Amino acid sequence: MIYLDSAATTLQKPKSVSAAMLSALRTMASPGRGGHLPAQRAAQTAYACREAACALFGMDDSEQVVFTFNATHALNLAIRSLVKPGDTVLISGYEHNAVSRTLYAMPNVTVKVAHAPLFCPEETAGRFEELLTDEVAVVVCTHVSNVFGYILPIEDIARLCRERGVKLIVDAAQSAGCLPVSMERWGAAFVAMPGHKGLYGPQGTGLLLCANRVEPLMMGGTGSESRLQQMPDFLPDRLEAGTHNIPGIAGLLAGLRFVERVGVERIGSHETDLVDRMAEGLEEIKGVRVFAQNPGAGCQSGVLSFCVDGMDCEEVGQRLSGAGIAVRCGLHCAPLAHKSAGTLECGTVRASVSAFNTRQEIRAFIRAVAALKK
Ligand code: PMP
Repeated sequence: MIYLDSAATTLQKPKSVSAAMLSALRTMASPGRGGHLPAQRAAQTAYACREAACALFGMDDSEQVVFTFNATHALNLAIRSLVKPGDTVLISGYEHNAVSRTLYAMPNVTVKVAHAPLFCPEETAGRFEELLTDEVAVVVCTHVSNVFGYILPIEDIARLCRERGVKLIVDAAQSAGCLPVSMERWGAAFVAMPGHKGLYGPQGTGLLLCANRVEPLMMGGTGSESRLQQMPDFLPDRLEAGTHNIPGIAGLLAGLRFVERVGVERIGSHETDLVDRMAEGLEEIKGVRVFAQNPGAGCQSGVLSFCVDGMDCEEVGQRLSGAGIAVRCGLHCAPLAHKSAGTLECGTVRASVSAFNTRQEIRAFIRAVAALKK
């Protein structure tokens, strides 16, 4: 099978990930809940995982790295910590439902959307500049669109937020592991990410990087300050009630070490190379509409959307699946992105790559799409 659905979750993981998970299952207990060896091993693994994330994402305090179930959980924690009733929040026109549904569910919160056309970073930054008025309390912005791979001008948006003293939450779901992500350089209040995509950890893992006061969503035991009726007020304990997903965290640590070993830049340029080739090949097929940046523009990551004339995208997905190729079809939980790009009615077929895909697989994928038109 040729797996091109890494924007949902990466399927091929480094072998070290499953080995670390198996070893954790066999040898580790619950960190902070006992002084015995299995508890100590678990605590060391959690600590090493926070340290690895801290180094990769430009932070200097690993206690500000919080374990979550996924990116959605991390985004809920960040948004619910910062946004208060009566606030106005500015978001990009490419947000995932993990951001937009969370905001729309909050009482008395006004959401402004900086819609801008696809692959136009200057226009996107301009829209943020225009809409970032005094009443905006918080900006939430995705680094990369999960539908189109559009890399938003996050450096410009972060600079604007710093200049105007507005708190910024970055959704790094599609960028962590393949593009530089730096808490410190951006001056972000929070950065949220999954562990199970570009960091090659298992499903059920995510991270929230925190540079701001946080409010817990869940209360419970932390193994610290146990006499108190309230959650501890320090990180990471304030946000980590209950038993940790230690096999998941062990897998995520192995994934982070893989990314560190291969290098974010190398993974990113490998993925861009594959997507550029994909765009070039698909554009040559008559009746295929490809959503790709201008060659060399530097604003598209390892995700590409396309549509086939006269064919519903679900049908394209099914036929590709029959040919042994896994892609994803529809709205990809991001209706705003489709509204920005004009594809809300039809959706798109999305092909997304990881460090493990090859040029040969991309050639086979292009041939399979071409065969649909015959
Ligand atoms: N934001 C973006 C941009 C995403 O692509 C995704 C996953 N599709 C999420 C948030 C949610 O991630 P998770 O599934 O880990 O909760």
